[in-house]
Formats: sequence, C-alpha cells, structure tokens
Amino acid sequence: MRAFDWIQPKTLDQVLELLPGPRDTKQRDRVKLLAGGQDLLGELKEYLVQPEQVVDLKSLPGLAALEFAADGGITISALVTLAALESSAELRTRSPMIAEAAGSVASVQIRNQGTVGGNLCQRPRCWYYRREQALCIKKGGAECFAYGGLNKYNAILGGGPSYIVHPSDLAPALVAAGASAVIRGKKGERRIELERFFTLPSEGSVLRENVLAPDELLLRVEVPPQTGWRSTYLKFRERSSYDFALSAVALALKLDGGTVREARIVLGGVAPIPWRADKAEAALVGKKIDDASCKQAAELALVGAEALQYNGYKIPLTQALITKALRKLS
Ligand SMILES: Cc1cc2nc3c(=O)[nH]c(=O)nc-3n(C[C@H](O)[C@H](O)[C@H](O)COP(=O)(O)OP(=O)(O)OC[C@H]3O[C@@H](n4cnc5c(N)ncnc54)[C@H](O)[C@@H]3O)c2cc1C
Repeated sequence: MRAFDWIQPKTLDQVLELLPGPRDTKQRDRVKLLAGGQDLLGELKEYLVQPEQVVDLKSLPGLAALEFAADGGITISALVTLAALESSAELRTRSPMIAEAAGSVASVQIRNQGTVGGNLCQRPRCWYYRREQALCIKKGGAECFAYGGLNKYNAILGGGPSYIVHPSDLAPALVAAGASAVIRGKKGERRIELERFFTLPSEGSVLRENVLAPDELLLRVEVPPQTGWRSTYLKFRERSSYDFALSAVALALKLDGGTVREARIVLGGVAPIPWRADKAEAALVGKKIDDASCKQAAELALVGAEALQYNGYKIPLTQALITKALRKLS
C-alpha cells in the first residue's frame, strides 16, 4: 500500500473542496473517499488505486440516517450500514427485498462496517481486475482477459468490451424498488433514478461503473412508498457462509386477487449493471403466477444472454431463481 494523507473533514464542503474538478478525470483517483473501507482497503493493498489523500466520510455528521416517512417513503443516507438495513423491522415490513439483500451481503463483520454508499460504489470483483499485474481493460489496458479466459463469474448479459458483473447485492433490490440516488458535487445536488446511476461498459467510460463525476459523491438513496408491493431478494452463491452472487433476483409484484398488476424484476451477478428484465416484467402483467407464466418470464428475462466459455450455468440458474421468487410471492 502506498502512503497517503489521511483526512477527516468535518463538513461536506470540506470534502468537496478536496475533490478534483467535475471534468478532471485524470485526477479522479488522486483523492479517494472511504466509508466502511471494506472494498477500498483491498484496492489500496493491491495497488489498484494509489491516492495521495484518503478522505474519511465517517467523520461527517448527518450521513447515517435511516428515515421512514409517514407516506411510506424511505430515505437511506450513504453511511447507513448494511447491518442497520438488515436489522430494521420497519424496513423489512416496508420493503422485504431491500432488507433481505442487505442481509445477504458478505459476513456479519463486513455488514457491520460496510455502508450503503460503499456497497453501491464498490469496484468489480473480477479476478483479472483485482490482480495488480493484470492490466485489463478496466484498468486502462487493451482487452478484457475474462472474455477468453477464466470467466466462470463474469457477465452473460450486457457485457463488452468488459465482462465484469456488478458485485452489489443492494443495487438490484434498490433498483427494483424504484429508488433514486441523490448526488452532491461542487455545483450542487442532483437526483437521478438509481437505475440510471449504473453504466454499462459500452456506455460512458469502461473504467467506471456509475455516473459519478470526479467531484461527486452519493449522499443518499430515496425509496418511494412500496404500498401494495410484495417483494423478495433471492441470491445463489457458491459458498454458503459468505460470498458474492453467482446470480440473484430482486422481484417486486403488485397483485390483485392473484393477478399481476405490475412487476419489477432486476437481476444481480449476471451483468455489469443491475439488469432490469423488462420483457419478463411486461409479460407477467395481467397473468396469474402459474407454471406457464413462470416459464415465460424466466425465458424472457434471459433473452439476449450470451454465455462465455465457463459461465453458461448462469442461464438456467437465473431462470430457476426467477421461478422460485415468483412462486414465493404468489
Ligand atoms: C470478503 C468480502 C465479501 C464480500 N461479499 C459481498 C457480497 O456478497 N455482496 C456485496 O454486495 N458486497 C460484498 N462485499 C463488498 C462489501 O459489501 C462492500 O465492500 C461494502 O459494502 C462496501 O462498503 P464500504 O462502506 O466498506 O465501502 P468502502 O470500501 O469504504 O468504499 C467502496 C468504494 O465506494 C466509494 N464510496 C464509498 N462511499 C461513497 C459515497 N458515499 N459516494 C461515492 N463513493 C463512495 C469508495 O471511494 C470506494 O471506491 C464483500 C467484500 C468482501 C471484502
């Protein structure tokens, strides 16, 4: 790990002063924000980033609020821990899939320390990216080594030119809940749908996974009222004690006497972004959950999937998870 200055600002303005300008992409990694440190420390130790300054966000007041509005809305500030989400009875009532997704992340220790902002902004886990010596396309190299290499854990949807999968469990659940991201930069605050926060490698920069400019940070996530929605998050991992998702599904349904009125299906562990299965969602509307509608939704969700040499198993695995989630909510 390269030596850096450790900074504990007292205000958000002090953080913003330290960050580079909005278009100063070359300086982006000069300053790194640290929340729980569960991802960033690994990056520092492996020399994947070598910042001059590390800014401790935990010293800022007011960024750890989990608030429940009377209208059903939920505000989750960036420094709320995953453990706080997992253990909130109110959250579990309002949006089970968000609490279940938080509870599925890593281990108790990591959930106690890891934050919502850090979970949504964490970097990919692809082993080529994580290996200091491998100059892959995510680190400015010419190619994605996973494409023709060991790609068991890589993307089957939305890949190219990089085939990473987005590692966050929380992201698919929050996208399925229709959440918005509130972002702060030097010029002020902006709000976007969380679904638009994440970027494919073929859009924007292949070096990044989200729309944050060099001068911006994520302040909070706002979840609209989930009244009338039933939801769940199912995750399949190789190692049951703790592991990233090989595949996951966040499912939310609005049912009326057993008939689907609205559906949201967002897949994790299979694409570089939380992957919205919109064709499957549309096909479910007006239908009862039965063998035929489950089969159709599962097939439509994977339309366009392209397996690499070692990850073809993700297609039937994801289809099975979708069917299981639909059965669970019906
Ligand atoms: C062994 C292990 C297993 C794991 N398993 C899982 C898993 O199963 N599922 C899963 O989802 N995750 C998993 N993770 C990842 C872990 O959940 C995340 O690393 C953690 O949630 C990140 O939160 P943090 O607060 O520690 O982030 P940090 O490490 O502090 O930050 C992560 C990144 O986000 C940036 N960042 C942090 N906060 C903000 C903000 N507010 N605005 C802008 N940028 C910000 C940092 O600069 C950094 O680049 C695992 C990690 C480990 C080490």
